[in-house]
Amino acid sequence: MLHYNERFPYVANYDVIVIGGGHNGLVHAAYLARAGRKVLVLERRHVLGGAAVTEEIFPGFKFSVASYVVSLLRPEIIRELDLPRHGLEILPLDGTFTPMPSGDYLWRVNDHAKTRREIARHSRVDAEAYEEYGKAMVEMGRFVKPILNMTPPDPTSLDPRGLKDLLFLGRRFRDLPDQDKYNQIQLMTMSAVDFLDQWFETDVLKATMSASGIIGTFLGVRSPGTAYVLLHHYMGEIDGAFRSWGLSRGGTGAISDAIGSAAREAGVEIRTEAPVAHIRVKNGAATGVVLESGDTLTANVVSSSLDPRQTFTNMVGDAHLPADFVEDVRRYKYRGSSGKVNLALDGLPNFSCRPGAGTHLRGAISISPSVDYMERAYDDAKYGRFSRRPYIDMVIPSLTDPSVAPPGKHVMSCFVQYAPYHLKEGTWDAQREAFGDTVINAIAEYAPNVRDIILHRQVLTPLDIERTFGLSEGNIFQGELTLEQLFFLRPAPGWARYRTPIRHLYMCGSATHPGGGIMGAPGRNAALRILKETSK
Ligand SMILES: Cc1cc2nc3c(=O)[nH]c(=O)nc-3n(C[C@H](O)[C@H](O)[C@H](O)COP(=O)(O)OP(=O)(O)OC[C@H]3O[C@@H](n4cnc5c(N)ncnc54)[C@H](O)[C@@H]3O)c2cc1C
Repeated sequence: MLHYNERFPYVANYDVIVIGGGHNGLVHAAYLARAGRKVLVLERRHVLGGAAVTEEIFPGFKFSVASYVVSLLRPEIIRELDLPRHGLEILPLDGTFTPMPSGDYLWRVNDHAKTRREIARHSRVDAEAYEEYGKAMVEMGRFVKPILNMTPPDPTSLDPRGLKDLLFLGRRFRDLPDQDKYNQIQLMTMSAVDFLDQWFETDVLKATMSASGIIGTFLGVRSPGTAYVLLHHYMGEIDGAFRSWGLSRGGTGAISDAIGSAAREAGVEIRTEAPVAHIRVKNGAATGVVLESGDTLTANVVSSSLDPRQTFTNMVGDAHLPADFVEDVRRYKYRGSSGKVNLALDGLPNFSCRPGAGTHLRGAISISPSVDYMERAYDDAKYGRFSRRPYIDMVIPSLTDPSVAPPGKHVMSCFVQYAPYHLKEGTWDAQREAFGDTVINAIAEYAPNVRDIILHRQVLTPLDIERTFGLSEGNIFQGELTLEQLFFLRPAPGWARYRTPIRHLYMCGSATHPGGGIMGAPGRNAALRILKETSK
């Protein structure tokens, strides 16, 4: 059926074509279709989900190949798309276990009293401060939360609606208690470690907590700006429990599948193995796409969930774009710094500091024994090599969700930093297995049996992340979450309102506000914007 819309004086195949079937593209499509638009999603791979995907890499072992835990997914999206009815089930992840070289460990769980007692074993002062810190972060999160659903105002524009939004933000900041104002400014400017130093004295506690500040960035725990990334990871909630993390039953792909099912129910057409080669531009406006197969599809609006390099440099072409925008796209920073090692295991890792298969294995397991360890891991990356002793965040989803591994076997997901996309020497293809060995060795320092229980391993370098998921330079968030690339600067100054210099071409993925993570907010915000700007 062809669609005609008065604002778009030509007949097109679709109202909106969405490029990319990652979770944001799917959220985006679902909202547009629910508002009556005829929507097509085009996904390059055979499977939906982008970086939120589950795949049976080895027979019987299902992996959340890239992203592995969930917290940031916006509750309003879960509600409005009725995702539990479409199969979404989040299983809480209980705490973080950090083994220490001394033979001790730090084990924070969701039970506040228990965690307090555990921290008091290391420092009574910190046990007190932990309570205060938690409250302060919840307040900071509350301040930022409404901003997540906002189309960023353009501070250079005199548009009254933008000015109203700026005023709203100014008022919210003015109404914060003084201490929260200071905290907010500190979070925006300080390093994760400097920020945490103000509260805590226990090295291992600061090291593990600071890890949230470096995820997906090419910065160290002592680099200014990382305190904000810490906050970004605090903004999630599960069933109303603020800053809690969980596993999705069936892996993170089950989240994408639930969103995909809601989208299909709303009428969205989804095509997999349909890579887009070009966005068609005529007289400064997008008119559709050309697939790699050569097929041309027309649409009144094209919306890309890909990052700016993929969207503009590769699919639009610089010739169609203003020179200053081309320069902004070129400058946008990816600098992938993460890798992933997925292990199929014959049993469970046995940590020397807490032997046996206890509940400490059911949460996150963090190889982050000291602040110096974390910073040294970054030192390697700064000079162009992967960390000799990396930071690793592990989960064993098969303990909570047995459906992902054969009986008695397990899957273990190891998120690793640093793995710089640009290596000083050699290539990632040549260094992939050495990187995998380094990760296993780092785990074996604390759980020596790990080498003996590995049945299969999948090693993903930043180059693999780029090749498989189309994430430029392997950046897990479609571009770093650093201050100069956030809010009204994401992805480029003047173009943070999901619109682009090409008329009828929008962006709706993690490269737009409020950024990366399985959050869905960019997809939803961009859909609401398109509906506003193209309503008949
Ligand atoms: C290794 C790793 C670990 C992570 N861990 C976590 C985590 O634990 N928790 C968390 O919240 N977040 C995590 N993230 C981040 C999170 O997964 C991403 O920010 C998020 O999934 C991005 O979603 P998106 O829809 O914006 O983009 P993407 O998932 O990048 O989706 C874009 C889609 O476009 C498709 N595509 C690319 N090129 C084309 C083309 N030419 N034509 C058609 N389609 C195309 C891609 O195949 C992909 O499906 C992780 C990411 C990675 C890579």
